Amino acid sequence: MSEEIKQRIKNALLGGIQLQSRADIEAQYPQRQRSEGQQVTRLCPSPTGFVHIGTIFTGLICERVAHQSDGTYILRIEDTDKKREVEGAKELITEQLGSFGIPPDEGIQPDGSVNGKYGPYVQSERRDIYLTYACELLDNDRAYPCFATSEELEAAVEDQKARKQRPGYYGEWALWRNKSDKEVNDALDSGKPFVLRFKSSGSHEKRVTISDRIKGKVDLPQNDLDVPLIKMDGSLLPTYHLAHVVDDYLMRVTLVMRGEEWLPSTPLHADIAIALGIKPFKYAHTPVISILDSETNNKRKLSKRKDPEADVAFWLKQAYPIKAVKAYLLGLANSNFDDWFREDPSKDVNDFDFSLDKLKNSRSPLLDVKKLEDYSKDVIASISQGEFNKHALAWTELHDRELFDAMMVNPEFTSHVFSIERGGDKPRKDVAKWSDVPEQFGYFYDDIFEQRFKPLATEELSDFSSDVLSTSRANFLDTYDSSDDKDTWFEKMKASAEKSGFTLDRKELKANPEKYNGSIADYARIIRVSLTGKRNTPDLYQIMKIIGNDKVIARLN
Ligand code: GLU
Repeated sequence: MSEEIKQRIKNALLGGIQLQSRADIEAQYPQRQRSEGQQVTRLCPSPTGFVHIGTIFTGLICERVAHQSDGTYILRIEDTDKKREVEGAKELITEQLGSFGIPPDEGIQPDGSVNGKYGPYVQSERRDIYLTYACELLDNDRAYPCFATSEELEAAVEDQKARKQRPGYYGEWALWRNKSDKEVNDALDSGKPFVLRFKSSGSHEKRVTISDRIKGKVDLPQNDLDVPLIKMDGSLLPTYHLAHVVDDYLMRVTLVMRGEEWLPSTPLHADIAIALGIKPFKYAHTPVISILDSETNNKRKLSKRKDPEADVAFWLKQAYPIKAVKAYLLGLANSNFDDWFREDPSKDVNDFDFSLDKLKNSRSPLLDVKKLEDYSKDVIASISQGEFNKHALAWTELHDRELFDAMMVNPEFTSHVFSIERGGDKPRKDVAKWSDVPEQFGYFYDDIFEQRFKPLATEELSDFSSDVLSTSRANFLDTYDSSDDKDTWFEKMKASAEKSGFTLDRKELKANPEKYNGSIADYARIIRVSLTGKRNTPDLYQIMKIIGNDKVIARLN
């Protein structure tokens, strides 16, 4: 293509935008002062909706790899697709990374300020930089204008399908790749819109080996696609392919960590990089988190629509301890994390020796909420009573004002409630998240008990007649003395069970079920559920001690 035509294309593309030279741009992005091992990683989410748990997964890995090597972790907002952008999504990303304790070293901080000298860190603010590189590709005959209309492109794909050929803009299907200067000139004269396309150098028949930090050596076809470089939606923003190469080069990224859905595009990215005289990047493609489908029991990708767990807001709203979620995600990435962490869940997860190599074995890691809850219970059981009270009250104040007010009537009583069965070697592990507080502790407070727990008691005990229930409760109260020690209390419980028609002997119950109302366990359930509305609670003797004589009598009457 003649220089004259190239100039015409640039004029038509830029419409008066004045670009800096590549040298001037690169002077603003000097090599980083760093030692060989220090890694520069980046997390590059697009602000297209809620923050996916996979973004936190990759973000955590970026952060660990960077910080373990005394390096730098960058957050870059990839907002080149203006049609898909959702208002507020950018802020959500920065805030939620903050909530997870992984704000970037460079890029937008949770409070909206920006750190770092390799910005701007939002792609829409870097438009002219990309245009400089796109024009260089044109100058070097590695880009050309394509005037094909969307109808023509669609017709080509149909044709490819009919002939059972691979779809895409390549080879003989690259309609404008080999047009003459005259044809380009005429098209420019007619004022037709065009898109600037990359002129690929590969052949689909030949292979290229990509060395990925996580996947190892991957054999892929070379790139022969002439992809668009600049969007023609009026924004003049780059496509992902150009933006990735330019940004990771200028920001001096040493390891491109991104979701594995980008792995097949790696040869294309290497092709663009080499065309720009840029050494292809080192990559680490992270696996996609999957879930077991509750209906089919098959492993599948987390779905935005079906799985609330896909949204980071779910974990924050339920108030799982951040440390537990982080620990769980690290465990998905490195299978040896589990043993390390279980030894002592009070450890700082950042002390774990994270390894990218071990991620190799973690193919589509499975998100198991039950397992995460186990981590969470361990974490909560490992914190001090003071911390526990602080978190429990903070959540309740924000989300359950009625309960909070009840708790604050007598803070000493509430401290007592929170500490039930938490001390000792085997602390009780009922609380997996702070939103469990009302369910676990609400019944200690009279008004809350009446409204929320008592109605459940009726249902929980519906297998007994009202006569059996009232006799059982009355018999218990007949001998109950709040000053009894635990053994005496238990002996009395057994005696009142027998008096109420329940047996202490399981075998006997099995042999003559019609003779009894049930076992001692059934009797204890009547007392427990009548007092708390729940089948599962901490030790009943302790509960009675805490709620006190008057409440025990009132609730059993
Ligand atoms: N913005 C891309 C996405 O959200 C990320 C790709 C990358 O990390 O390079 O899929």
